[in-house]
Amino acid sequence: MPQKTILKGLTLDELRQWVVQQGWERFRADQIFSWLYTKRATSFQEMTDIGKAVRQRLGEIADVGLLPVLKTVTSAETGTVKFLLGLRDGNTVECVYIPEKNRRTVCLSSQVGCPLGCTFCATGQMGFRRNLAAWEILEQLLVVERTIGQKLTNVVFMGMGEPFLNYQEVMRAADLISDERGISISHRKIVISTVGIVGSIRRMAEEERPYRLAISLNAADDDTRTQIMPINRRYKIHELLEAAKYYYEKTRRRVTFEYVLIRGVNDRKRDAERLVQLLRGFPCKINLIPYNETVPEYQRPSLEHVERFSRWLRPLPAPIIVRWSRGRDIRAACGQLWSEGMQERTPSPFASSGETSPA
Ligand code: SAH
Ligand code: SF4
Repeated sequence: MPQKTILKGLTLDELRQWVVQQGWERFRADQIFSWLYTKRATSFQEMTDIGKAVRQRLGEIADVGLLPVLKTVTSAETGTVKFLLGLRDGNTVECVYIPEKNRRTVCLSSQVGCPLGCTFCATGQMGFRRNLAAWEILEQLLVVERTIGQKLTNVVFMGMGEPFLNYQEVMRAADLISDERGISISHRKIVISTVGIVGSIRRMAEEERPYRLAISLNAADDDTRTQIMPINRRYKIHELLEAAKYYYEKTRRRVTFEYVLIRGVNDRKRDAERLVQLLRGFPCKINLIPYNETVPEYQRPSLEHVERFSRWLRPLPAPIIVRWSRGRDIRAACGQLWSEGMQERTPSPFASSGETSPA
């Protein structure tokens, strides 16, 4: 039997082409698109403004593109929910819902695992399995929307994997997330976080992709950065900053530099001084992220020290924000997704699987 076409992940134009190929009228595509992304349909049967015969045929040749939720863990502290989804090849992937006062954010994964092996990162330690397809990325978001029964307001690509090593599928997903005829989350509310793949930063600028760019700098000198981020052997800090500057020149959008603070590794006064040197005169924002303890040899600095480090950066005109990750009690903070659920295969519907871990 020929494989069914997964319709999630096709752009509206592609969907129109496909529909016409099946001998149907073009507007059928608009109906399906709306059902998939606005009404978050989980079956063709639900698409009641489409005639029964067409729905039946759709069921035979096409696939909505659903992924089962294998497990959820809810943080009693913050209401953050971590989802473990089962992929069709037996792999699993995680995404996180982060509720805040004025926004509802989903943290999306772009790969199963990550090949870059940053020494402080849980995902980096589990190795690399494969890239995710755009529909698998979109489905993470739709699973969360279906579960909470509300629209999300913000999207961050800060889950498992390096988005710029899966550039095309990530951009396809981001384009569909911001498509006003569908999910319609503003491109200004979509952040792509990269370790700093120089070619892709330039490519994003050249293609005029409107999403916000965050770069994980995490150190202010090459020795320290190479020690915790092996990718720094390939792209040195000065090359990375050149690409960031090129991005700014081309788009006039400020880059956010993320800096995970790890005790004794990159949180010394001289690190702050170097960072000031490095970023002086460059229009950017800085996010300081106190380390979430996922790898035993690294620790988070104290609250007082985080504040001290932030003060040391004051000579910079850039806004500095300390991001205390949410969902720490369930190891669901962005960038620290963990593979402890990887081997679990017990499907369980959301309602009965929402474990609540103690705060
Ligand atoms: N691969 C991309 C996106 C995923 S990681 C990147 O590296 O940017 C998202 C962010 O989480 C990065 O800034 C990363 O440095 C940070 N991060 C990873 N592990 C973390 C941890 N244990 N605690 C705090 N931040 C972490
Ligand atoms: Fe990969 Fe980002 Fe983790 Fe580094 S920090 S290993 S790039 S997911």
